[in-house]
This record gives sequence, C-alpha cells and structure tokens, in this order.
Amino acid sequence: MRLLLSLLLIFSLPAHAEGFITRLLNKPVPGGVAVIALGEAPQAPRVRYQDTPALVIKEDGQRWIAIVGIPLSVNAGTQQIDANGRPLSFQVEPRHYREQRITLKNQEQVSPSPANLKRIERELAEQRDAYRHFSPRQPSNLLFDRPVDGPLSSPFGLRRFFNDQERNPHSGLDFAAPAGTPIKAPAAGQVILTGDYFFNGKTVFIDHGQGLISMFCHLSNISVEVGDELARGDVLGKVGSTGRSTGPHLHWNVSLNDARIDPSIFIGAFTP
Ligand SMILES: [Zn+2]
Repeated sequence: MRLLLSLLLIFSLPAHAEGFITRLLNKPVPGGVAVIALGEAPQAPRVRYQDTPALVIKEDGQRWIAIVGIPLSVNAGTQQIDANGRPLSFQVEPRHYREQRITLKNQEQVSPSPANLKRIERELAEQRDAYRHFSPRQPSNLLFDRPVDGPLSSPFGLRRFFNDQERNPHSGLDFAAPAGTPIKAPAAGQVILTGDYFFNGKTVFIDHGQGLISMFCHLSNISVEVGDELARGDVLGKVGSTGRSTGPHLHWNVSLNDARIDPSIFIGAFTP
C-alpha cells in the first residue's frame, strides 16, 4: 500500500521540471507575475488576461508559457486567463505591502491646482496609451540587467502618504544613484514615448515586446527619441530629480499586459 501511494505521488508530479524563466518570474501575488504552462503546440496560443493580450513564449524550446502581470488591485484567490478561447485558472497568493510617509515642501505636488490637474490628466492619458502598446516582438531577455549601478531604495508597492494624504501606491522600484549616472536599457526595445511630466519628470518608455514595457522617470537628461531602437545596455538618459521627487534617484516601472508589477522580479531581487 505504501509503495502504491509513493508511486502515485511520483506519477502525479509534472512530467518536466520548471524551466529557468518560470522559476525566475513566477511570483503570483498582487503586483507580481503568474507563469502559466500552456503545453506543447505548433503555434503560440493566444492568451488574454482581463481582456488584454498577454506575453507568450516557448520555454526550453518545448512548451508554451504565458507570463501574466497581476495588478496590485487584484485580491488573493483564483484568477483566470483565456488561452485560445479556453479558460485556465491560477492562484494569487497574498502579499503585504508596507506604508511610506513622505513630506513634500511643495504643496502643489500634493494637491495640485485645477490648471495642473488638467495637465496631469492629459499626461496620464498619454502614458496609459504607451502601456497598452502590444508589439509582436519577443523580449530579448527576461532576466533584465539593472538599469543603473546603485542600491535599491524604495521598493515597489509601498502604500504612500504625501503630507499625510494617501496617494497611489508606489508603482515602481527606486535606485539611489547620483545625478548624472547613465541609465541603460535592461533589455532591447523601441522608445515609444518620452515626455516631461508633472509627477514623473523627464520620462522614457521602452517597448520590450508583447506588452512588456519599461518606464524610467525623474531623468535630468533624455538622450533618445521616439522610434529609436535600443540594444540591451544602450544609454537612454541620466539620473536626475525632475517632477515629484525628493532627490536624485531612478524610478523604474515595469508593466506587463497593462499591469504595473514589481521590477525586482525581473532582476532576480524579489523578496516575498
Ligand atoms: Zn519611485
């Protein structure tokens, strides 16, 4: 009986071990990533999550996997993707995010005037469109390089209070680095948007392919233009403190299927 049980256990395990990309990226928490096995097929299955196309790649030259960004607003529990019209479920585990309290001398950056609110709305619409870009290219690498040399400062997902007023949670990862430090593309991609925004300051968006988008904020200088093709490691600008920022640092957002997710996952620095 015991032998039978252990045999059953062996045969119920997946036939193949998880690949490197799955082990690196599968952090199914709010603000994380779910890697979902899709099996073998001659053509890449078409996957949608929350009615948005998702990233699909072939792992280890064998089976297809969907790499799905989970928005911070999703609660722990069962979620579903659509793969070629077929529903597939995955589980989202809970994750706790800490609070952060920031004091800003410039009250306008906490409660902007009607004129600035108009500007902010316009800028948000432009940036939302960039996040919805979906190009068919395959990302050059899913283990990203760090965009700057420097220690991580504020983590992703902090619940933020500016002068005691709650605002949107921290949508990216901060690196402490002196003004002027060059910022390098963590993977190849095309520049799809640049701007000088009220909150984000001088900003660059890079499309790495299939809905995987990076945004770099608060730059002192932008050295690329919309349409430029960047190789992995190409310099796109310099660290600064433009926009709503308390000092020179790089703020880096990573988005998948229009969900802002924890960039630390992509550099192998995720801590649960
Ligand atoms: Zn930040």
